[in-house]
Amino acid sequence: MLKKIGILTSGGDAPGMNATVIGAIKAGIALNKDMYVVYDGYKGLIEKNFKKVDKHFIEDKLASGGTAIKTARLPEFKEEEVRKVAVKNMKEEGIEALIVIGGDGSYMGAKRLTEMGINCVGLPGTIDNDIASSDYTIGFDTALNTVVNAIDQIRDTMTSHNRCAIVEIMGNKCPDLTSFASIATNADEVFTCDHPLDDKNALFDRMEEAKRNGKDCYIILVAEKLLDTKELEKELNAKTSWETRLTILGHIQRGGKPTAMERINAVKMGAYAVELLDKGIGGVCIGIHENKLRYVDIYDALKLPRDEHKDLYQLHELIK
Ligand code: ADP
Repeated sequence: MLKKIGILTSGGDAPGMNATVIGAIKAGIALNKDMYVVYDGYKGLIEKNFKKVDKHFIEDKLASGGTAIKTARLPEFKEEEVRKVAVKNMKEEGIEALIVIGGDGSYMGAKRLTEMGINCVGLPGTIDNDIASSDYTIGFDTALNTVVNAIDQIRDTMTSHNRCAIVEIMGNKCPDLTSFASIATNADEVFTCDHPLDDKNALFDRMEEAKRNGKDCYIILVAEKLLDTKELEKELNAKTSWETRLTILGHIQRGGKPTAMERINAVKMGAYAVELLDKGIGGVCIGIHENKLRYVDIYDALKLPRDEHKDLYQLHELIK
């Protein structure tokens, strides 16, 4: 019978990671397991940074962003020799299974460890929503609310000055934070890898027409890594009658109190991970699909195509 389970958070931190850890610990202890946290992601496996915890561990952090058990990146974990040290350390401590909360890089590490004899379950922890096996990743809802609140505030000041705002939104290569925010803020323009800025002259024309029609604020959302937003700001100031200001939201998107839905989904997924490991299931990742929990083999999950949310761009055209 499975007795000792470890938990770690890996890759970029995301609000809701603490709630996931809490869900897993409580569910594990209810099933009579010994629960261990591993500090600093995979690095903690190499450094044997383990701690046996009781059911109250970090329960005061349910409403906190970030990850109380820390996260780190360890590129060397791709090497089998390095992973062997991790397996040896876990075996010495008696840890037989591991819950890994992170993105697709972390999932690969979890799959490789499973192949080396430690059953692992991956949980989707990232603000970017870039894990196709889950409709929502842990952190996305909170980050989306942070982005939307920031745009609402930017709109207040831009409207007062009759200005245009360019808002650059983080999301790695996944445009979901930008495309979802375009609907929630009724932005005038949205540019992402799925919906690029192909025709700048047409944009200038739309902006001038909006001004002629009496618009007192123009909001342009741009997903990070798509184009040089500083250049775009210069161009709009030079080639349109709109005074334009750029805001790059950056790391502010990562922090903050997880929303209620985030906490609920996170606790659910954490508890489900323990249930799967207890049944001897490993090498899989958990997702929420059509409002239900599901698990998928990690290799299959990583091959799933990303949802481009084409409907959102159509809806944006309709409502803007
Ligand atoms: P994320 O999990 O958010 O995608 P990274 O891509 O940085 O973040 O991956 C987090 C960690 O997962 C890496 O620092 C590394 O320790 C581990 N990892 C990434 N890719 C692999 C791989 N192919 N094999 C084993 N471990 C990996």
